[in-house]
Amino acid sequence: MTTLANHLPTAELQALDAAHHLHPFTKGDELNEKGARVITGAKGVWLRDSEGTEILDGMAGLWCVNIGYGREELAEVAARQMKELPYYNTFFQTTHVPALMLAKKLAELAPGDLNHVFFANGGSDANDTNIRLVRTYWAEKGQPERDVIISRWNAYHGSTIGGTSLGGMKGMHGQGSLPIPGIEFIDQPHWWAEGGDMTPEEFGLERARQLEEKIKEVGPEKVAAFIGEPIQGAGGVVVPPSTYWPEIQRICKKYDILLIADEVICGFGRTGNWFGSQTLGIEPDIMTVAKGLSSGYAPIGASIISDKVAKVLDGTEFNHGYTYSGHPVACAVALENLRILEEDGVIKHVQNVAAPHLKEKWEALADHPLVGEAKIVGMMASIALTPDKATRAEFATDAGTVGYICRERCFANNVIMRHVGDRMIISPPLTITPEEIDILIERARKSLDECLEQIRSDGMFKAA
Ligand SMILES: *Cc1c(COP(=O)(O)O)cnc(C)c1O
Repeated sequence: MTTLANHLPTAELQALDAAHHLHPFTKGDELNEKGARVITGAKGVWLRDSEGTEILDGMAGLWCVNIGYGREELAEVAARQMKELPYYNTFFQTTHVPALMLAKKLAELAPGDLNHVFFANGGSDANDTNIRLVRTYWAEKGQPERDVIISRWNAYHGSTIGGTSLGGMKGMHGQGSLPIPGIEFIDQPHWWAEGGDMTPEEFGLERARQLEEKIKEVGPEKVAAFIGEPIQGAGGVVVPPSTYWPEIQRICKKYDILLIADEVICGFGRTGNWFGSQTLGIEPDIMTVAKGLSSGYAPIGASIISDKVAKVLDGTEFNHGYTYSGHPVACAVALENLRILEEDGVIKHVQNVAAPHLKEKWEALADHPLVGEAKIVGMMASIALTPDKATRAEFATDAGTVGYICRERCFANNVIMRHVGDRMIISPPLTITPEEIDILIERARKSLDECLEQIRSDGMFKAA
């Protein structure tokens, strides 16, 4: 059997990595010079690297390891499924038990009449499915000109051509001549950064009403759908004001526009309920799911679709699908993951223990001289770094410089936090204990202290 050379010295592993492995979202030259951190194992919320260092994973990998690392049940289910039926497709009038059972389970868990599941390999390609799906829906209803999808600047919907196009990250659009035609953008409900003198509630309404303006500009007869993350994740854990989603919902209903909730991060307990739509009071026609669906143990994503949309779609042959749509091993792993979230009480743990404890500790970080607002919903949270809390000022240095320094301090202190510009974000495994939350916060505070000390001595603690 293949054995993986974990026993090589770190420097050799790093040299091999630098020679042959291209990393996502990474400047290769810089990383190759520095050497990538080599992760060799993990258990619970703890990662172990090739030097034997234990690191607290405040990001659950990439927002996905909801049940924590090292759950043997998933490994056993995967091995059993591989022996029984490692692969078969669901294209030509066939199905298999893992796919149909997972679809049934998702239909039960998803709110309202979201009762139909189309499988993908992750969130990006599930959103690609959604683009074709909503356009096909309107074409089938005799309105093929309804093909515009409205999204938001600074949204993240994945990294495929479709996902990048739906996302509102200009740096991503710049690579590969994107977005594709038929995607329009409105501004994000990011009060801290863009709210000016408005109250958060006024600002939430103002931003939601941009959707109505955009619909009128494009022409209501041309708009197919609106897509949004209930809470923007990769954009910086941007929690919208309470007025935002009800107004978006009202506008979508008024113009009969399909509402796609991208639940890739918010789903499966992250916000304290099964889905972010439940936490924020959204009634989507389609939900995109991935990440926490399998807790990252196997690659899988899906579009969960309402009765209304599925009925129309069923009237035609939807010429779409992936070789691995509903992969049996990934479906079996996802089912076991959902069982653990439910029966092992992981979601209850979030509601009753982890989220209340994290909220108390996280919000207390707002006392720190470097921290403006501290936002948290369930188990996803952010803090804004600022030289002046009162005016919500940005730093005089390039955006992201201070955030990067803080992230490097976190790295050195063996806690994983990410920075998005000058915002620090976390999204730990949902199974994290109160004691581990205390360690996370202690290390975060130490990193903030060290960051502040450094930018003070470098003369960077000043407003733009
Ligand atoms: C991560 C993410 C995606 C993309 O999912 P992949 O599995 O990386 O393709 C899409 N939408 C949101 C909201 C995400 O956070």
